Amino acid sequence: MLRKVLIANRGEIAVRVIRACKELNIKTVAVYSEIDKDSLHTKLADQAICIGKPAANQSYLNVNNIIEAANVTGADSIHPGFGFLSENAKFAKMCEECNIKFIGPKYTSIEQMGDKVKSKELMKHADIPVIPGGDLKEKSLKEIKEIAKKTGYPIMLKASNGGGGKGIRIVKKEQDLEEALIIVKKEAKQAFNNDDIYLEKYIENPRHIEVQILADEFGNVIHLGERDCTIQRKNQKILEESPSIILDDNLREKISKAAIKAVKASNYINAGTVEFLVDKNKNFYFMEMNTRIQVEHPVTEVLTGIDIVKEQIKIASGEKLSYKQNKINFTGHVIEARVNAENPKKNFMPSPGTITGLNLPGGNGIRIDSGIYAGYTIPPYYDSMLAKIIVHGQNRNEAIAKLKRALEELIVEGVPTNIEFLLKLIEDEDFKKGNYDTSFIEKKFF
Ligand code: ADP
Ligand code: ADP
Ligand code: MG
Repeated sequence: MLRKVLIANRGEIAVRVIRACKELNIKTVAVYSEIDKDSLHTKLADQAICIGKPAANQSYLNVNNIIEAANVTGADSIHPGFGFLSENAKFAKMCEECNIKFIGPKYTSIEQMGDKVKSKELMKHADIPVIPGGDLKEKSLKEIKEIAKKTGYPIMLKASNGGGGKGIRIVKKEQDLEEALIIVKKEAKQAFNNDDIYLEKYIENPRHIEVQILADEFGNVIHLGERDCTIQRKNQKILEESPSIILDDNLREKISKAAIKAVKASNYINAGTVEFLVDKNKNFYFMEMNTRIQVEHPVTEVLTGIDIVKEQIKIASGEKLSYKQNKINFTGHVIEARVNAENPKKNFMPSPGTITGLNLPGGNGIRIDSGIYAGYTIPPYYDSMLAKIIVHGQNRNEAIAKLKRALEELIVEGVPTNIEFLLKLIEDEDFKKGNYDTSFIEKKFF
């Protein structure tokens, strides 16, 4: 078993990983930027080491400093969390070369499956339905217009290296294509330092359904069911749940099988998520794979009782999966809501500041994953997510009632948050009925 894990991340996911390590009796090393000296992850780890200035490219993306921190502290492994270096194949390769176990897939899998264009090619060969479209890298405007026409409008332009819903734009007609290309390229360059773009057919009124996978080094692959992440704002998930009410047993089986096939086709090892869009006729299409732990992984943990982060660590330690597919039980209904420090009055602009007062909800069926405490100052440099509230009910109605109760108990003073918005959202009649698609929030609330 791994002895000492360095967590190359911050905030709630760093805390989440530290907790799993503690329960496995593994030592932890936190890395922090100058401004994160008093962050929860820095305080909770056995050891903490400063890796640079606040700007992410000087600290949490500073590969050399992170590897050096692992060497200095004698860490034998690195958990990348999500965001930052989690889908950076070069970093995973560098870890391997330095004899540090990267807790995630092999770098070759990240290269292949973490790349939105390459993974779609591989999926096509494996006979998994993919969203039609094409790679626009090094294509002229004329060629791009042809690909778009062949695909059929409306289309979606997407950053090949994108994530977090950034660098995505719908184009309804050819006249708008040129301008949209310029905008998306600029956004992609800014957010991901890479302006490779591809295009996809725009799927009308889709639901976002993803499947959680675990795969060990011995060729065992299991799925832990789906998560429905259809409730999004600007292509970024806000609320995630399982089971999805749009899947019947037949479709669930088909999607899970496709996800397992995807993972086997790429010889993928460790935890991963295969994302699909499901159209209104219940056709499903592979969209992308996230080759890392995801924000919404607790939904599945609560539903199945399986600790996905511990499984990641065990798999990286060379152990066999602890679970067989037919032994996995899915109990009740789980919903997660992302609580963000953002100002609804200013178009949900991220709003850092000091948390002057805090009351976290509790009680039966409530789990909170967060990296905050009363008196903590949220720095302006990173993501605005403060906490995830995960509720477990016997059925969807009970889960919604619990989430409402939890959001009403939650008090965050000192910074604006989306709590009131989340409450309005879950009290909406169409939400309660399960009657929505990915544009629900934009259509109903803006
Ligand atoms: P999930 O797929 O787990 O729901 P999100 O898309 O919400 O994850 O992203 C989780 C975090 O990681 C966010 O802070 C997001 O901005 C960041 N992130 C995701 N993908 C990338 C990427 N390719 N580059 C940089 N940051 C990313
Ligand atoms: P990210 O890497 O940012 O997570 P994804 O490719 O997973 O990007 O897409 C994020 C979201 O954008 C999806 O969940 C969906 O709501 C929307 N989306 C992406 N591609 C399409 C498409 N072809 N048609 C309709 N919606 C899409
Ligand atoms: Mg995605």
